[in-house]
Amino acid sequence: MIDKNGIRADGRRPDELRPVKLEVGVLGNADGSAYIQQGKNKILAAVYGPQEVHPRHLTIPDRALIRCRYHMAPFSVDERKRPAPSRREIELSKVVRGALEPSVFVEYYPRTSIDIFTEVLQADGGTRCASITAASLALADAGIPMRDLVVACAAGKIDGQLVLDLNDVEDKMGEADMPVALMPNYNAITLLQMDGQLTSKDFEKVLNLALDGCKQLYTLQKEALKSKYVAVKEEVKE
Ligand code: ADP
Repeated sequence: MIDKNGIRADGRRPDELRPVKLEVGVLGNADGSAYIQQGKNKILAAVYGPQEVHPRHLTIPDRALIRCRYHMAPFSVDERKRPAPSRREIELSKVVRGALEPSVFVEYYPRTSIDIFTEVLQADGGTRCASITAASLALADAGIPMRDLVVACAAGKIDGQLVLDLNDVEDKMGEADMPVALMPNYNAITLLQMDGQLTSKDFEKVLNLALDGCKQLYTLQKEALKSKYVAVKEEVKE
């Protein structure tokens, strides 16, 4: 998967992210929304809320309830995926919610729910991370007060080399994959998972590689948010 010049099968250097495109406010009907393309991944995120909780018995008296659904469209992978939520999607819904929740001032909105939906339109490895990056932008777009944006990226090991932002093939054939989510201004990690095996030295190096990837994506996240509001400002002027 890595040639003798150290270049990966998709032409990237080991420490290079896939090309990323981020867009904010792409859906008219949701309170907040965002779209991410990261390599071949294409993911939409939408947020509703804060709003009244249904069913009511889930209401939390002193804070907002955050719910999340990570879903893969049937056409997102090479063989049709059954549309009903799989065990993996139920797990990833929890993983994405857990990564985002520390960033939201939930105590500002007692007795409400904030509902986050991420819809994977095309998958190519690292969709949980890309979903987190997009969903955090959708939360910001919905005007929900947050401590910081959350940004996520994986790093791992393939062919004995440490690499950033693994694609599907690298994830499946590689030795290890470590998804990390970060609130960069707080230097707080909100998600840390690992598949495979690493020595403790490599573990630290891979973690730092993932954190570097997160910081690069954070710059793009902020640019995407700013460009939405520049566009809105220009519309208002007109
Ligand atoms: P992540 O997408 O966060 O890396 P996984 O490691 O579970 O999560 O999945 C890796 C990749 O495997 C996905 O991004 C996707 O490309 C592929 N994949 C997941 N589920 C399916 C499926 N049902 N059919 C085919 N490919 C799948």
